[in-house]
Amino acid sequence: MGHTRSVGEPATSRVIDCLLDCTKGNALRESEHSGGCLYLVATPIGNLEDISLRALRILKEADLIACEDTRQTLKLLSHFQIRKPLESYHEHNEMTRAPELIVRMEEGARVALVSDAGTPVISDPGHRLVSLCLRHKIPVIPIPGPSAIVAALAACGLPSEEFTFLGFLPARPTERRRRLQKIASEPRSIVLYEAPHRLRATLRDALEILGDRQAVVARELTKIHEEFLRGRIADLMRAFEENEPRGEITLLIGPPEEAAQSASQRPGAQAVSLTDRVAQIVAAQNVDRKSALKQAARELGIARREAYKRLLNEENS
Ligand code: SAM
Repeated sequence: MGHTRSVGEPATSRVIDCLLDCTKGNALRESEHSGGCLYLVATPIGNLEDISLRALRILKEADLIACEDTRQTLKLLSHFQIRKPLESYHEHNEMTRAPELIVRMEEGARVALVSDAGTPVISDPGHRLVSLCLRHKIPVIPIPGPSAIVAALAACGLPSEEFTFLGFLPARPTERRRRLQKIASEPRSIVLYEAPHRLRATLRDALEILGDRQAVVARELTKIHEEFLRGRIADLMRAFEENEPRGEITLLIGPPEEAAQSASQRPGAQAVSLTDRVAQIVAAQNVDRKSALKQAARELGIARREAYKRLLNEENS
């Protein structure tokens, strides 16, 4: 959390205590989980004011906090004057740490899992622990809050009713390109996390494989230098030609233009025939014709039965 905006100290701390008092009714409900359980606690992605009251209370009440990086979490906890035993839980120790935490929870410990920033498990460690808890019938309780995908998607301006989240693309160019090829005919907006030093290469590959679509670089969300760069992929590439991208980045890529417009809005709606579109989807996604037709129908905003009729008409004409 490099450039964080932080809340002013003592007054804010009093306000938080006061607000926490107001949530005591909820606290009683929550403590029905008197046995061991796992809380997945979302933490700020930059701006410490984004922590929720519930997250603070759970962090205070937990018996221990499992975290990706103890130094990072200590900063957060000391800001909110919370003292708790910390255990590291990250991708390199989760094989052994997850079963250890299960034993603790089976003995009655309430464990709060946090990542360095945002919602744990989402492109962050935790999935193994969640699965193990479920297998051991230990309650898993989400404490929702900040997540870069949601913040970026909500404000990006691209179609957001449905979207595909790719997490991080593979770092190796060949695999990255293969991943992009696989989703070339994806009709929804695409959201992905990207490291600043790989952004230019990713934009270059995206331009070549997906075409010059609308896209948004959402940078340093919730921090002092928060920025949304909007334009076509080629515009964004130009914007970063001279200046190396910096900070934390979520990249959003709009749907292919023909999918972005509904059938009724589209000028010359028959530009790509349904037969051709179905064939494209079959080839690009290696799915059967039935699934491809379902997807094409969704792109056109029509029922599957209607799409099937149109397909038959096209084939018979
Ligand atoms: N679990 C986290 C969440 O829910 O947001 C994401 C963890 S992932 C390891 C971290 C990546 O999320 C960063 O490399 C960046 O791509 C994206 N990210 C995190 N914070 C961000 C921010 N403030 N602005 C833009 N993107 C951010």
